[in-house]
Amino acid sequence: MTCPICFFRDSYQRSLKVKTFGIDRFESKLDHYKKLYVDELKKLKSLNECNCYNIYSNKSLCLWVDEFLSDVHLHIDLIEATFNEINLSYIKFISENQRVAINSLYDFLEKSLLIDRTVDSSELVKAMFRARRKGRFDPKDIKEFYHVPFSKRHLVGSQRFSIPGLPLLYLGSSALTVEKELEANSNSDLEYSIFLPSYSHFYNSRIFSLNNSINSLLENNLPGLMDASVNLPYSGDDNYSYKPRFKQEVQANILLQICSFPTEYKKSFIPEYIIPQMLTVALQEKGFDGLSFPSTKCFENLKDNHRFSSHHLNFVLFTEYSSTNDCDSKLLDKFYTFTLDKKDSVSKKEVLDAIEKVRKLNRNSDINNTDFVMPLVRAKFQIEYLENSSIDGVKYFDTATGQTELNLYLDMANEMYNKVNARLNGNREKRDATL
Ligand SMILES: [Zn+2]
Repeated sequence: MTCPICFFRDSYQRSLKVKTFGIDRFESKLDHYKKLYVDELKKLKSLNECNCYNIYSNKSLCLWVDEFLSDVHLHIDLIEATFNEINLSYIKFISENQRVAINSLYDFLEKSLLIDRTVDSSELVKAMFRARRKGRFDPKDIKEFYHVPFSKRHLVGSQRFSIPGLPLLYLGSSALTVEKELEANSNSDLEYSIFLPSYSHFYNSRIFSLNNSINSLLENNLPGLMDASVNLPYSGDDNYSYKPRFKQEVQANILLQICSFPTEYKKSFIPEYIIPQMLTVALQEKGFDGLSFPSTKCFENLKDNHRFSSHHLNFVLFTEYSSTNDCDSKLLDKFYTFTLDKKDSVSKKEVLDAIEKVRKLNRNSDINNTDFVMPLVRAKFQIEYLENSSIDGVKYFDTATGQTELNLYLDMANEMYNKVNARLNGNREKRDATL
C-alpha cells in the first residue's frame, strides 16, 4: 500500500523508472514510465492506511493529504497530458530537429507557467562546494576550481544539464554532494573549495528551480508545521491554501522526474540527457542565470539527517564568453571564495562559536551586513540538520567529508568576522571624521 508521501519520494520514482530498463528505445521507456506513474497514482491510498502512518500520524496532516489525493485522482488527464507534452519534445528531437524540439519544450514551460519557478535569491546565499580530483595544480588557487577555461573548451564534457562546448559552473550544496557527483571513492582523492554567492550580486538573479517541492512539502515542511499546530488548509480562500497551486506543482514534479531519468547505458549518445540539456539551452536563451536541481546520486548511506536538510542540491550557472580572459571574471567577482589545502581536526562547536562571534559583532552594527551574516546563518542550519546523521555508522561531522565541510565553514566564519569588523571600524572612522 502506497500513500502520496511515499509516491513522491525521489527514491520511489527512481524505482519506477528503473522498471523500464531493458526496453530498447528511450521514447518507449518514457511512455512506459508514464503508464507506471499513472497506474500507481490511481491506486494510491490514504496516509493512515500506509506504513508511513507510524511516522506521520498527525490528524490534520492526514486530512490534508486526503484532499491532495482527491485532487490527484481528479487530474489524471492533466498528468497524462503533461507527460505527453514533455515527451513530445524528445520525439521532436529525434524525428525533426533540435530547434523545433527546444521550442516545443519552451512552449510547454510558458504555457504551464513553470518558467516562473525560480529559486528565492536568499536561498542562494550559502556555501556552495566545488571539488576537483587531486593533480598537478595549485589547490589554493580558486581559478583552478572555477569553470573549464575558455582555452580548454575541448574538455567540456556532456553532462545531464549542459550545453555542448560551453563551460558552465557546477556547484553542490554539500561536500558530500560534490563527492558523489565526481564519483570519488575517497574524500582524500579530492581538493575542495567553496564559492559563496554574495547577496548584493545575486539578489535579483534568475535561477530556475527544478526541485522536488511536493516531496519537501509533504515529507519535510508539512509534518513539522502541523505538529506545531500551524493552520495550513489544503483548500479555501486562504493565501496559504495549496489547491490553486496543485496543477503547477504536479507538472513541475513530472518535469523533474523526466529530467532525472537514470541512465541505463552511458555511451556516445545519452538519450536520458536530451530533455535536461534542451531545458538548459532554453533557459540560457531566455536570459536565466542558471538552474538548480537535486542530485540524482544515491544518498541512502546517509542516515538520520534532519528532514529540512538540503545537502543534496546542485546549482549550474551560465558563464559569459570573453575573448581576452580565460574565464568569466565578472561572474567570479560575484562570489567570496575559499580553498582548503590542509585539514585540521575541527569540532562543530568551534564552527558554531565562530559563527556566533560574527552574529554578535553584527548586532552592534548599524550597517547592512547581509552578505556576510546570511551565509553563516545558513551554514549553522546545515550543521544542525546534519549533526545527528551518520554515514556507515560514523557521525557525519566525524567523517572526512564532514570534516572538510567544517574546515571550510570555519575559514568562512573567520573571514566574515574580519570583513564585518573592518566595515565597523571603517564606519566608526568615517563617523569620527565628520564629528
Ligand atoms: Zn506512505
